[in-house]
Amino acid sequence: MCGIVAATAQRDVVPILIAGLKALEYRGYDSAGLSVLTDQGLQRQRALGKVRELEARLETQPLQGTSGIAHTRWATHGAPSEANAHPHVSEGEPGTVGIVHNGIIENHVELRQELTALGYCFNSQTDTEVMAHLIHHLMKDGRGLRDAVQAALTRLHGAYAIAVICASEPGRVVGARKGSPLVVGLGIGENFIGSDVQALIKVTNQFVYLEEGDVVEITRDSVDVIDAGGESVERR
Ligand code: GLU
Repeated sequence: MCGIVAATAQRDVVPILIAGLKALEYRGYDSAGLSVLTDQGLQRQRALGKVRELEARLETQPLQGTSGIAHTRWATHGAPSEANAHPHVSEGEPGTVGIVHNGIIENHVELRQELTALGYCFNSQTDTEVMAHLIHHLMKDGRGLRDAVQAALTRLHGAYAIAVICASEPGRVVGARKGSPLVVGLGIGENFIGSDVQALIKVTNQFVYLEEGDVVEITRDSVDVIDAGGESVERR
């Protein structure tokens, strides 16, 4: 089992993401990575091995951003490698989509064929990359990120916890869970998503526990949870 951390804030979130990944190291993993939204768009750094390898990359090629997603991977589809490390991205109009995912997408082969026929190029062997392109494709019809994530989830079979960002919707992170845990951390003027409380304990002591099938959209000052039936809900 591996981990997800995501944050949207007024400050640089890279230290928050790295601290969160370190807190999730106990779960085991083979590679780590993160993406943040910068003035140059969605930027990514990934490394095979430990979170400290990722940190070393960030020392020589620093990244800063006020919203971002991060991941420790335990490979299920595709060997442990930098190319297979998350986040996975889908580039081009209406905006680069970045996603981190824990779990398995069972129908990834069919989806990969469908998306390849639509012109998408795959840069990894992961099941996860189909989600990046599917969400991106669904945004081309004019959907916002959250609507595109919800529409994409109806096409997926399998288990997932995900966190997604898009360059055209800065300051917003969309998460979802089915078969894998995910919590929301509430801050003051900043909000977070994590695989567990440990990942976020340094930045908040207030948590919302998502339930099976939930989708959540966080901004710096809002948290909206939508249940599996598409209804807005309050969670514990
Ligand atoms: N199935 C995905 C992969 O192999 C996610 C693995 C995980 O849960 O870390 O990249």
